[in-house]
Amino acid sequence: MEKLLPRFLEYVGIDTQSDPKSNTTPSTDKQWVLAKKLVLELHQIGMQEVSIDENAYIMATLPSNIDKKIPTIGFISHFDTTPDFTGFKVRPKIIENYDGSDIVLNSTKNIVLSPNYFEDLLQYHGQTLITTDGTTLLGADDKAGIAEIITAMEYLVAHPEIKHGKIRIGFTPDEEIGRGAHKFDVEKFGAEWAYTMDGSQIGELEYENFNAASATITFKGKSVHPGYAKNKMINAIGLANQFLSLLPNRETPETTEDREGFFHVYHIKGEIEHAEIELIIRDHDEVHFQARKDLIMDISEKLNKKYPESVTFEIKDQYFNMKEKIEPAFHIVEIAEEAMMQLGIEPNIKPIRGGTDGSQLSFMGLPCPNIFAGGHNFHGKYEYVPLESMQKAVKTIVKICELTAEKF
Ligand SMILES: [Zn+2]
Repeated sequence: MEKLLPRFLEYVGIDTQSDPKSNTTPSTDKQWVLAKKLVLELHQIGMQEVSIDENAYIMATLPSNIDKKIPTIGFISHFDTTPDFTGFKVRPKIIENYDGSDIVLNSTKNIVLSPNYFEDLLQYHGQTLITTDGTTLLGADDKAGIAEIITAMEYLVAHPEIKHGKIRIGFTPDEEIGRGAHKFDVEKFGAEWAYTMDGSQIGELEYENFNAASATITFKGKSVHPGYAKNKMINAIGLANQFLSLLPNRETPETTEDREGFFHVYHIKGEIEHAEIELIIRDHDEVHFQARKDLIMDISEKLNKKYPESVTFEIKDQYFNMKEKIEPAFHIVEIAEEAMMQLGIEPNIKPIRGGTDGSQLSFMGLPCPNIFAGGHNFHGKYEYVPLESMQKAVKTIVKICELTAEKF
């Protein structure tokens, strides 16, 4: 366990920012630097079947140490960091025995991590916090997850008295640009189920996420001299406006929470003859999700009745709620929950208002809930992670392996 912190500090020192504009995998060459290092390290700690493919997906095996046939399970995290904020020259600060006061990240730039604004900090009184120096992100998302998985595997190698089945681990590039699961070879991974170690604060356990679709609605107008336009002009901007007025106005990101779905209009452009609306649709509930898509169709039809052939739309599904793939095998969640409880961690199960790689993997045949890696304030300069939460994540991984062997 003493290697957990140095390991983490070493990983965050390597810039692995991904790039949505790139079409290669990994999207940036620099991700190879950490990827190759991880492969070496997996060999060093005694993992077997260590592999890295042409897209930098890493897999490795910890063989079973028990005679009985136990399901193979996996742990997954990603080594890229978000394109939203720089990860170049991360210089972490370590605050031991945190006393609950303001943390000056950067005195010259007056950047302060304060519990007055980030009240979650107060949960970590007396703990060791790892923060940024205020100029970069930290990269606990998800290098904490990687450090935790490797440390847990090392621990299991050193403690053969803990009985477990075959464990597979997977590290992916490009999660932050939504492609982490795209080239993940589920068959080669060969696990019955897995966990992404990519959640935030201690206790988080997630197996529900949004169903997601995007829609583009196009309006065709007819331009006529405004002085002679009566009953002749069709203004595409006006059509777009009518369309928007028919969407439920209390079902937007800023008016909803928990399991409430929404329409989110995020782009609009228009002139007399042509206008376009782009929006996204989100809902945890499958039936409501379909109803939202139907509403786009209904509104379009309604307008088309009044102004024939003026409205067209295109709806594209993006990802689906993994719940439907997890619920039929709910022991996956129960084992994680029990592992946490045995370690004195209060499980915090809540629906994700977004998607995860795990949701894509679940639909690719690898059911994959998400577990805390311990960090807070991802994707920016206020990112931090308590060392104690990372240690608990390591223990959670070990305990899940142990419980899976006990229960099967
Ligand atoms: Zn992440």
